[in-house]
Amino acid sequence: MKVVEGLAELREARESLTKPVGLVPTMGTLHEGHLSLVRRAKSECASVGVSIFVNPAQFGPTEDLDAYPMDLERDLDLLAGEGVDLVWTPTAAEMYDSGYQTWVEVEELAQYLEGEIREGHFRGVATVVTKLFNSFQPDRAYFGQKDAQQSIVIRRMVEDLNFPIEVIVCPTVREADGLAMSSRNSYLSPEERRAAPVLYRALLAASQLFSTGEREADRLRAEMETVLATEPRARPEYASVADPATLEEQHGPIEQALLSMAVFVGKTRLIDNLMVGDK
Ligand code: AMP
Repeated sequence: MKVVEGLAELREARESLTKPVGLVPTMGTLHEGHLSLVRRAKSECASVGVSIFVNPAQFGPTEDLDAYPMDLERDLDLLAGEGVDLVWTPTAAEMYDSGYQTWVEVEELAQYLEGEIREGHFRGVATVVTKLFNSFQPDRAYFGQKDAQQSIVIRRMVEDLNFPIEVIVCPTVREADGLAMSSRNSYLSPEERRAAPVLYRALLAASQLFSTGEREADRLRAEMETVLATEPRARPEYASVADPATLEEQHGPIEQALLSMAVFVGKTRLIDNLMVGDK
């Protein structure tokens, strides 16, 4: 496994990879969720690259950029164990030099849900993913359903900007009690960790209601809120029933929806989602 930092080194190493090349973009502190993307890429591509970059442009001024966990040595061991061919660990200084001024914005999809609360977040995501795509030039790129809106924004961007890249979205990997795996779970105290599966319980309750025939978006949203309210350590920021194509919040009857939520458990902000009525 080759590990490179600089862009010039990356370009040179990329030349010798056999096509099709799969890329898994990450911010490191890898867990089984990330590794499931790597394994899917390995099964579908002749070579697999992983980028590890905690992208400052997607963090707001009051967010956890400085506290974001990092353990590069452990990450590289895990990736070597998966048979990854190339790892790129760019520096923020090279990605955004002092004269940096070009940004990619996906206008409408980025306005809702996470984008409404985390101003500028998807501008940072779309920009860094564009830079990763242009540098790595993968044939396929792998993302997680865990960050549902991110995958939807990136699919749109790839379509709009004619990237010759297939975007593949992989299922959310969960702990045994349903908590979606996330690098941020390491912030949780033992009590908070016990409270955190309430997100998945709330999503499942709404999804079960949908399976029994309930179609009113407001009732599905209320079901999620009711379950979240049973956990005193949980402070919901939003619980949403959105159109999975436009991400607009739904109020009447629905046939399909992206159920999603952002919930503080202590100081840690957790997100999760489930699709219902998926064809
Ligand atoms: P991150 O390092 O959090 O930026 O995540 C890198 C990629 O891994 C993104 O495409 C995420 O959606 C994906 N990912 C993160 N957590 C999970 C999970 N629990 N299951 C599946 N994919 C995940």
